[in-house]
Amino acid sequence: MSIDVPQSILDALTDVEMPKLGPEPSAGRMARIGGFEVPVHRAGCVVVGSGAAGLRAAVELARRGVEVAIVSQSAWGGTSACSGSDKQTLHTANTADQGDNYAAMARAIRAGGAMDEDTAYVEAVGSARAMASLQYLGLPLPQDPLGGTLRYKTDHDEVGRATSCGPRTSRLMVKVLAQEAMRLQVPFFNQTTAVRILTTGAGAGRQVQGIVTIRTAQRSAENPHGFAVFLCKTLVLAAGGPGELFRDSVFPNGCFGSIGLALEAGISLVNLTENQFGIGTRREGFPWNLSGTYVQTIPHIYSVDAAGTEHHFLAQYFRTTQELASNVFRKGYQWPFHASRMLDFGSSLVDLAIHRETEAGRRVQMDFNRNPLGVPGDLPFDLARLDSDVRSYLSNAGADQALPIDRLRHMNPLSIELYRRYKVDIAAEPLEFAVNHQHMNGGIAVDVWGRSTLAGCYAIGEAAGTHGVTRPGGAALNAGQVFGTRVAEHIGSLDAKTEAAGGATHVDLAPAQQAVSQILNLMQADSPLSVQDLRDEVQARMSDKAGIFCSPDTVAGALNEARALNGKIRALGIAAGRTGDLARLVQRQHMALASEAVLTALDHYIGAGGGSRGARAICDPAGECIPHSAAGPLEQYRFRKEDPQHRAEQILVRMEGAAMTISTRPNRALDEGAKPFFERDWPQWLTGAIYDAAGLAADGPAR
Ligand SMILES: Cc1cc2nc3c(=O)[nH]c(=O)nc-3n(C[C@H](O)[C@H](O)[C@H](O)COP(=O)(O)OP(=O)(O)OC[C@H]3O[C@@H](n4cnc5c(N)ncnc54)[C@H](O)[C@@H]3O)c2cc1C
Repeated sequence: MSIDVPQSILDALTDVEMPKLGPEPSAGRMARIGGFEVPVHRAGCVVVGSGAAGLRAAVELARRGVEVAIVSQSAWGGTSACSGSDKQTLHTANTADQGDNYAAMARAIRAGGAMDEDTAYVEAVGSARAMASLQYLGLPLPQDPLGGTLRYKTDHDEVGRATSCGPRTSRLMVKVLAQEAMRLQVPFFNQTTAVRILTTGAGAGRQVQGIVTIRTAQRSAENPHGFAVFLCKTLVLAAGGPGELFRDSVFPNGCFGSIGLALEAGISLVNLTENQFGIGTRREGFPWNLSGTYVQTIPHIYSVDAAGTEHHFLAQYFRTTQELASNVFRKGYQWPFHASRMLDFGSSLVDLAIHRETEAGRRVQMDFNRNPLGVPGDLPFDLARLDSDVRSYLSNAGADQALPIDRLRHMNPLSIELYRRYKVDIAAEPLEFAVNHQHMNGGIAVDVWGRSTLAGCYAIGEAAGTHGVTRPGGAALNAGQVFGTRVAEHIGSLDAKTEAAGGATHVDLAPAQQAVSQILNLMQADSPLSVQDLRDEVQARMSDKAGIFCSPDTVAGALNEARALNGKIRALGIAAGRTGDLARLVQRQHMALASEAVLTALDHYIGAGGGSRGARAICDPAGECIPHSAAGPLEQYRFRKEDPQHRAEQILVRMEGAAMTISTRPNRALDEGAKPFFERDWPQWLTGAIYDAAGLAADGPAR
């Protein structure tokens, strides 16, 4: 059996062209801010970011009559438009196979702990609608002849709720949503970077007023940095994840997210200790996840030292060829690193081994033209000698070809085509890769309507900290769609939908004046700190000391360094880099703040006895767990077990003045026994009371 897919079909799913943006509206007025002539725009709602989440919100807001504008650093930048894997995954309720139970699905979504039970249910129950509406907009999700969605099993997914359009699912999502936003004539301000959130009022009355942006391409003599102000009653942060926080990263270039923005606005963040790391090609080349069929074909993995000598390093870790090959295969659907999977010769031992090779300065490669070499003293690789789950998967897939490249061509020709688009022919040459940061599970704390702790400010997509410790593959894209719709429903229920209703004729520009002067103060030509030094320092610290292996001492030391760096920035400012781009300078400063916030949370977690969970192994000489290689225990990687109590709570970080403050709160609970009753509950829907009835504070159990 072989799959013969015409080249034109492969092209359409791998080379996804994006729509051309229309002209943008001009500013309503100009104002003198910071001594410059600055355009001031007004909208009922501003969405920051044009990834899959932001575009979903914009479309849903426009459909509800909200005067919405999109502000984006890069229209088709960010992870939705530029990232993927062999089959980039969308996680939704199972429609084809055994049907689904939303309560069970919610339990699976929050299985790793530190996730609100109501949020998990919202994501589960909203997933069917998210998927159906994407299909309505033209997303080509694969179906069987009876209309059921084709599905498979992915990370943290025992049921098989994953589906995919191929390597570029999220880019296709961006495309169909962008087309819809354009059809609805949503104003789109491209190359516009939000650098400060504006607020008015104080205490409980404090609320969003708008944002200050920098439009570097719009610099002029009267406005040499390209400042622009957007005033709005509601703001939706959909700026994605902080890809620039780590050096070893599979995020596309230039992903800064909104952690720094939120910290400066006094907004609470949650679960910053939770990330995802796994194998992929780095952003220095073409960043892409090596999950699914890339590893399920069982390519030969080896490293090369400076002298060009090859090392068959996995053979030092696994006891037999069968064990080695079966665990390489399992990285396909156990893709993220997980400490407990290093034990008992499990699949995360592969990540540990790769991590050590990279640390030792050797370059790790995946060769699709060679089957794995055997473990010395054992039998050679044979498709017939694999663990039973692996053998049956490959046999069901008809993947009995002699070489990994032929198995890949058979199971997923798109995955070969994809790299070819970026001038890498994996059919001809090996692929260099590493263990990289791939996702931030934490972020801005939100309630079930996506509301943050700042009135009028919402967060969705990777910007929101809605995921717990683990998330099923595809749950990130689903959450962005579900919460993109939820925030629009909530904002649509408010009075302040339009610009006219959204603001008085007289606007207080004092917050914008203050924000611009603070930003200008950051840039100090004679500062010893350059933008590049700042990037290198933050990224190296995060990758070396807060990656998959952490220890109490290294995290505490890293936190002190991060605090010192932010102190230095406050005292001396930052010297602009070669480009003189003020937006980048502010974003690097935001990364320094984000790094301190993450390390503060991590240090607190470890100090409170926190053990290994999700993305990180907490190494400790007194730890109860120890991974083994074929040669014996790896004492250096002895790690603490997870304390199950920590699953029931979440860690919050907030910036007050220059200090990061920490608190914890229990997960919001969901009473699965409390069934809705139509006649009783209908009036809440009819009167819009549902928008308040479910009002739970983003950073606490009850508002
Ligand atoms: C390699 C890789 C593979 C992945 N695979 C999967 C998968 O299979 N399934 C899954 O569910 N998830 C996956 N993820 C995660 C998922 O892709 C992201 O979580 C998701 O795309 C985020 O969408 P978003 O809309 O929140 O942010 P993004 O798509 O990152 O969009 C952010 C937007 O904000 C803009 N922006 C950023 N900062 C600013 C600013 N200051 N001002 C103005 N605009 C700004 C950017 O230009 C961009 O338009 C993967 C991630 C990676 C890196």
